[in-house]
Parts: sequence; C-alpha cells; structure tokens
Amino acid sequence: MNRHQVCVRGLILCGLLLLLGCKEAPSSALPELKVSGPTMGTHYAVKVVGDYPGGEPQLQHEVEQILQRIDHQLSTYKPDSELSRFNQHQATTPVEISQDLADVLIEGLRVGKMTGGAMDITVGPLVNLWGFGPDKRPTKIPSEQQIAAARLRTGLDKLHVEIGSDKATVRKDIPDLYVDLSTLGEGYAADQVAAWLDGRGIKNYMVEIAGALRLKGHNGQGDLWRIAVEKPGDELGQVQNVLTPGDNGISTAGSYRNYYELDGQRFSHIIDPATGKPLTHKLVSVTVIAPSALYTDALDTGLMVMGADKALIFANEHNLPIYTLTKTDDGFKVRFSRAFAAYQPKP
Ligand code: FAD
Repeated sequence: MNRHQVCVRGLILCGLLLLLGCKEAPSSALPELKVSGPTMGTHYAVKVVGDYPGGEPQLQHEVEQILQRIDHQLSTYKPDSELSRFNQHQATTPVEISQDLADVLIEGLRVGKMTGGAMDITVGPLVNLWGFGPDKRPTKIPSEQQIAAARLRTGLDKLHVEIGSDKATVRKDIPDLYVDLSTLGEGYAADQVAAWLDGRGIKNYMVEIAGALRLKGHNGQGDLWRIAVEKPGDELGQVQNVLTPGDNGISTAGSYRNYYELDGQRFSHIIDPATGKPLTHKLVSVTVIAPSALYTDALDTGLMVMGADKALIFANEHNLPIYTLTKTDDGFKVRFSRAFAAYQPKP
C-alpha cells in the first residue's frame, strides 16, 4: 500500500488519490483530514477535504458516534443490539424498532425481492451453520439435514416491517426467524456518515466502511476520487482496475478473501439461499456503483449469488453499473454492464 491508499481490511477496494483532470477542480491543493479506526469487526476510514470544525479529533468523535449507534442497532455480534433482541424474541408478535433499523430492513427486503431471493437478510441461520456469523466455524461439513433444518428458518416472505404514524414495528411469521444484516449494514453506515457530512456542509469527502464507500467531490489535489478494485489472489493490494465513481456509493462483494477450507474443500462466506450452501461458481467479485451505499452493498451480494451471466443480464435490465471478475484457467475474465463504461477513468 502506498500512502495514497486506504486499505480496506483485505477486501476489494482501496481509495486512491491518483490524479485525474476535472473541469471544476480547484486549482490549489487543499489539506485532507483523515480519520480511521476499528468498527463492526472491521475497519473504517473517512477523508474530508479542507477545514472541519474541531479538526480531526472532532471528525473522529462524530464519525465514531454514528458508527457506534449503528453497531448497537444492526449487529448480530452484540447480544444486546436492537437486531439481536428481535432475533431473540421467540414470538410472532410485533416488536417496536428504531427508524434506522426499519430503513435497513425495508431496503433489505426490497433488494432481496428484486434479486429473486439471491440476497436474503433472513439467511442468518445458514450463515451461522457454515461458521460465517457470530457462531464458531464447524469442524465437519454441515449435513444435508442440518442445512434443510436451517433453511426452514429462512424466508424473506416471513419478515414484515410496518411504518406507522408514530412508530415502526417488525414481526416474523415463525418465532425462530433470524435476521442477518452483515451484508448491507456497512453500506448503511457509509450513507449515514455521508449524510452527516452533507449536513455539515462538507463538499468533498470519501467515507469507507469495510469496503462500502460513499464519495463526494474531489480529493485534496482537486481530482475526482479514484477507487481501485483489488486483483484477486494471495497478495493483498494488487490493483485490477481503477474507477472514478463520481458522487456515488460503490461496494464490492467477493468470494476469494473470506473463506476457510475443510476436508479439502474451500467454503466462501456468501451463501446461496436456494441451496443453503456457500457459492461454488467461478465469479469471484462484483463491484456495483449507485447513489446509495446501502443499495450497492445489498445488491453486490445478490449479484454474486446469481453468477456472472445472470448478474450482467440483471444489471443491463436495471441500467446498473457493475464490474465482474470471473476465475479462468489462466487468470481472471473481466465483464461489465453497459452502464459501467462511464465509470472507467479516461486515459
Ligand atoms: P459481504 O459480501 O458484504 O457480506 C457477506 C456477509 O453477508 C456474510 O458474511 C454473511 O453474514 C451474509 N450473507 C452471506 N450470504 C448472504 C446472502 N445470500 N444474502 C444476504 N446476506 C448474506 N464481524 C465481526 O467479526 N465482529 C463484529 O463485532 C461484527 N460486528 C458487526 C456489526 C454490524 C452492524 C455489521 C453490519 C457487521 C458486523 N460484523 C462483525 C460483520 C463484518 O463487518 C462483515 O459484515 C462480514 O465480515 C462480511 O462483510 P464483507 O463486506 O466481507 O461481505
């Protein structure tokens, strides 16, 4: 990593401060305030260009307050989080929830249905069975019976969110439905930090939470933010491509970094809800660009589950910029949707 890169926890994306011409760019360089730290079992980094009242310490304090609030709402790793309390609620009666949790559940259900259930926020029992949630890694490959039993505890149609005039509630059709927001919670957090910075009148920033990014304006050199897609492989930080997403969210789902091996087989952390098993196809990463990081972070996992052919058809139907990498015998094949071409940097 050089000093211009913000490493994203061995994930796919790094923010690069490379030069790129832009008509509206300011002519002189401005200082960049940079804060980073641990959050949600992973890492965050925020850059703000120019002044911030109270400087880096105040920026860090405000960002971490937002992240802590979201962690206490959306975590399945904290037994006392709002989501964990709902998961522990072994009944089908409605539970009052915060607007934050309601917003994420509603978007999770919407994107889940849009992807035909490929992204499924109720897949938690399978995630835990395969050892990718708060539970320990299995020492044996789960049996077909265990998988079938866990699948009975999943289903987007079994989760209902209602927004009333004075409160939001959520209920489940079966008492042991278990919601896992790990795939989109970081995107929501990036959106919330971006909204905070917008509210403070900040015009140029980069927010990154565990590989889910929100970008606005320019870096300190006055250039558009440039984002590197990592080249899959054993070596961290190798750049596959550099993108200029503009004032957007961007995130990548990948199957090659978070995995374990058992009985000679490799299991990645993305589960196909239709089979109840980790993915086995050769699509190794999908990068998505859209205005909201909550949306890109939810969608990238669904597109991974679909596989490259279906994901590209889906993206072209929805005019969605996506970039895919598929493993081949001699490397990786790049394929992207029609809408993606606009985000390739100009030579
Ligand atoms: P993504 O590709 O973005 O998501 C993969 C994850 O989504 C899987 O790990 C699984 O949980 C889930 N998933 C798998 N398949 C599907 C599917 N088909 N549909 C929907 N979801 C699926 N991790 C810790 O180790 N410790 C913590 O304390 C911790 N706290 C967290 C708190 C919050 C609020 C959140 C949102 C996450 C937390 N995590 C924690 C999880 C961690 O930050 C990452 O979310 C996780 O490691 C996977 O992130 P990713 O970006 O690599 O993968």
